[in-house]
Amino acid sequence: MAQVTMTICDRHHQQGAEVPGTSRRFVIDGFKATTDLCDECYETEAGPLLSFLRTMTGTTAPKRTTTSGKRRPKSKLDSSTVRAWAVENGIDVSPRGRISQDLLERYRASQG
Ligand SMILES: [Zn+2]
Repeated sequence: MAQVTMTICDRHHQQGAEVPGTSRRFVIDGFKATTDLCDECYETEAGPLLSFLRTMTGTTAPKRTTTSGKRRPKSKLDSSTVRAWAVENGIDVSPRGRISQDLLERYRASQG
């Protein structure tokens, strides 16, 4: 029989409740610990430690670095929006496939 393993929050489990948790591993100053806590308990248990670490590293939230650089893709027109616009304006448009360049130009022009 297949067995489904679920991580149960340690803290809730002590209170007799089966709340799904997330396994997290800590290695701090030579101490290793694994906790199975739900988000709520994680904040309660590890919150003070986390805020300490955040203070020490000078970050309030994990920073996301963009690897793509400055290049951003041109804002893509949503084909369904263009189709809806075409239908509203009585322009014949096929419900499937690519929208013709001509139609896109007309849509852009109409949007100012
Ligand atoms: Zn919990």
